[in-house]
Amino acid sequence: MVATLTSPESISIENEKNPWLAAAARFEDAANRLNLDDGMRKVLGTSARELTVHIPVLLDDGRIEVFTGYRVQHSIARGPAKGGIRFAPDGTLDEVRALASWMTWKCAVVNIPFGGGKGGVICDPNILSDTELEKITRRYTAEIIDFIGPERDVPAPDVNTNEKVMAWIMDTYSMHARHTVTAIVTGKPMALGGSRGRPEATGRGCMMVILRALKLMNKRPEDTTVVVQGFGNVGGMASQLMSAVGFKIIALVEYDGAVYNPNGLDIAALQQHRKETGSITGFAGGEDMDKAEAMFLECDVLLPAATENVLTSQNAHRVRCQILCEGANGPTTPLADLVLADRKVFVIPDILANAGGVTVSYFEWVQDRQGFFWNEQLVNERLQEIMDESFDAIVEYARAHHVNNRIAAYMVALDRVAGAIKLRGIYA
Ligand code: GLU
Repeated sequence: MVATLTSPESISIENEKNPWLAAAARFEDAANRLNLDDGMRKVLGTSARELTVHIPVLLDDGRIEVFTGYRVQHSIARGPAKGGIRFAPDGTLDEVRALASWMTWKCAVVNIPFGGGKGGVICDPNILSDTELEKITRRYTAEIIDFIGPERDVPAPDVNTNEKVMAWIMDTYSMHARHTVTAIVTGKPMALGGSRGRPEATGRGCMMVILRALKLMNKRPEDTTVVVQGFGNVGGMASQLMSAVGFKIIALVEYDGAVYNPNGLDIAALQQHRKETGSITGFAGGEDMDKAEAMFLECDVLLPAATENVLTSQNAHRVRCQILCEGANGPTTPLADLVLADRKVFVIPDILANAGGVTVSYFEWVQDRQGFFWNEQLVNERLQEIMDESFDAIVEYARAHHVNNRIAAYMVALDRVAGAIKLRGIYA
């Protein structure tokens, strides 16, 4: 499907939560500013390949259920497609398409040799047993097996998937290949060829770009208040790492409530509390707060680190932060972007802010292919180098071209991908 090319201003309120339209709007805006020709717009406005599979699974109660799964490769122009697999009850092909294209731009922003891909299975992991999840994962892997590969398309964890799921994918792929293929997925357990530093990488990358932004504003972490939405892999790790270097995490917002402490939450204690009670609410080290309000507390940094469409035209005027760091993919709609620009919020866009994860995925893939593993210090140093350079390049590009950081990131990415396609030529 070719993107319905549109501009951020032309998106209607009814459509603003369609991630594919959001991706298309940003793409179009950047393409216009780059004077990208029509042919290139067609190539980059379309996924290269889209696969839909229907997976029969024998459930624990003896019933057979059929689940729908997708794997989309938006682009393989700069290298194998790269991107996560998510399990969610409300997934759509449009969402997977958008997320796949964001991976293309993300890998190009940090200049790692990958294209973009994404996968998803429509299922609710909360009501499935471990055995059922394993069966879904293995059958999904078997169905997409000819589509993926270390040189073709390399999956990774995303919403509701983790290193256990990656181990099942690696094993299934390897059983079919008749030998162990570690480089087929990233985000694997350490014992199976995972990289040191990968579980923390997305959260660490967020912290790195926030520190870089603070430097521009002459601010220190000790004087910086942060509101984090999402306490999963990204939000949890970022909160932990940031509080360790002095940031004050004044509020944490989850799907079932929020907790607030103006002096900064003790993140390790909050993790422990959630482990014991299953929720962040009722924590002795803070007060419970309405989750719909907590996002709009006055703070220096707002870090949405859950899913898409958290900031929309309906609530963006309530945002009271100086820096918005997008730990999640697509947390801000294009209409919300316009409001944030009016409010002079310094946005660190998702395709830069959360690129630490895929960057260390790249390191994992390199290590697997070499069979030679790095220590954590080396992983973190190389991550730091890439995040700092990418942040500086985008901010400088935005300044030089009088565009906001998001459009600058899209422009740099589009230019790199279009450049690769031009060099390769169109095969016929
Ligand atoms: N799912 C993560 C993302 O959206 C990581 C992808 C990867 O490591 O391939 O960036």
